[in-house]
Amino acid sequence: MQKLANFINGELVPAASGQWIDSFEPATGTVHAQAPDSDARDVDHAVQAAKRAFPAWSRTPAEERCRVLLRLADLIDRDHEELAHAESIDSGKPLSLAREVDIPRSARNFRFFAGAAVHFASEAHTMEETALNYTLRQPVGVAGCISPWNLPLYLFTWKIAPALAAGNCVIGKPSELTPVTASRLGQLAREAGLPPGVLNIVHGYGAKAGQAIIDHPDVPAISFTGGTKTGAAIAQAAAPRFKKVALDMGGKNPSIIFADATFADAVATTVRSAFSNQGEICLCGSRIFIEESIYNQFRDELVSRARGLRIGDPLEPSTQVGALVSHAHMEKVLAYIELARSEGGKILCGGKAIEMRGRCQGGWFVEPTIIESLPPTCRTNQEEIFGPVATLLPFDREEDLIRDADCTPYGLAAMIWTNDLSRAHRVAAQIHSGIVWINCWMVRDLRTPFGGMKQSGLGAEGGLESLRFFTQPKNVCVKL
Ligand code: NAD
Repeated sequence: MQKLANFINGELVPAASGQWIDSFEPATGTVHAQAPDSDARDVDHAVQAAKRAFPAWSRTPAEERCRVLLRLADLIDRDHEELAHAESIDSGKPLSLAREVDIPRSARNFRFFAGAAVHFASEAHTMEETALNYTLRQPVGVAGCISPWNLPLYLFTWKIAPALAAGNCVIGKPSELTPVTASRLGQLAREAGLPPGVLNIVHGYGAKAGQAIIDHPDVPAISFTGGTKTGAAIAQAAAPRFKKVALDMGGKNPSIIFADATFADAVATTVRSAFSNQGEICLCGSRIFIEESIYNQFRDELVSRARGLRIGDPLEPSTQVGALVSHAHMEKVLAYIELARSEGGKILCGGKAIEMRGRCQGGWFVEPTIIESLPPTCRTNQEEIFGPVATLLPFDREEDLIRDADCTPYGLAAMIWTNDLSRAHRVAAQIHSGIVWINCWMVRDLRTPFGGMKQSGLGAEGGLESLRFFTQPKNVCVKL
């Protein structure tokens, strides 16, 4: 059993409460680690350390900050295999996915923002002979970075890297469900030479440790990724304190398949975009709109491929679908499948939990599930399920498609499959979502803005947008 620690002021420390949170291995349903059950005292301890470290770190030349962050990226690469293993055990995701996506991307986040720190520049505005304005972009101070369980180290570092690169000190709180790789990150940051107090990692429940970060008067900026309900609560708590907030929240993303799409590519990527990481990616396409004329053919191929996905022990290299993150989450996903049935949905494949044998007996596995015959406005098609469940919706006219694809409260990502260039651009421009992929999915250039519309997000991050979020513009006007 691993006992994890908070990472405060460069030291590994237990929670002030002396209490622990059990961390389960989703594939077996057993406790494999314990994380500190932190509260406002631990958060305050971390904030005081961050405040002490801030003057020196914020004045450290960008090139030096860059060097430290590059070293941290190299250390993540060095420990790639260990971290991938830990991530798979902690979250239930296939080891192959952690190896190919989660851990390499975590290193890339640090490498990208290390480079961005030295290229970040601000503007100057001249008023002919009257005055010169120049903009200073100064770090906000102590930034709170709160992340979810589905891509643990990947999303944690996606916030921490730009915050540090921009010269801030950080209080990071990973999800209480997946604390292990975040805990390793603290140790690697120390090894990379990050000064004490610059990065602090506080484990704990959202309602206690998370809320204490939101409420702390000396944390002026909060970058949060998680559910829309939590995001709303954070926005409400942050508003009277006038904190800067960036919120990345839930999605109910449409995959749109036009009849002229390249069938083989569309079907292969649509299976992947629905069921990767057990459907536990905010960018997964969970509503699949298929043009009438190819509906039956596309549906049959999709169902046959979903049935062929290899579900099993996440640590087996051949496994494509692993375990859901918690028992409660599995129950939620199964309840949505029941809801779909009661709303008149026809289950084409999957639809139930899987009882595993051997090591994974007791694990939380759900079959990849495809459902048809539901209207776009029913609850199954409106609410985020965040599991291996996708619905199929036929469409005929482009206007109806856009209306139906857009009719949820969310607006995170949309996938469009067509070989008609004008239609691709036309539909992309009309869909209300922060990200549109045409004939692809999860292709990520880290320079691009990233964020959702409607109830999926507030404030873009990604590329220079992240550095802008973690800095405060100040205009200096000089009379000439
Ligand atoms: P969650 O909202 O339950 O928790 C996210 C984080 O917030 C956790 O660290 C949690 O402890 C913390 N938290 C909870 N209550 C808090 C509070 N009152 N104050 C401060 N912190 C609090 O979300 P989750 O279940 O961990 O993650 C799944 C959700 O995340 C899904 O809705 C998914 O779509 C979303 N998500 C969005 C993106 C994106 O980029 N838009 C990416 C990944 C996941």
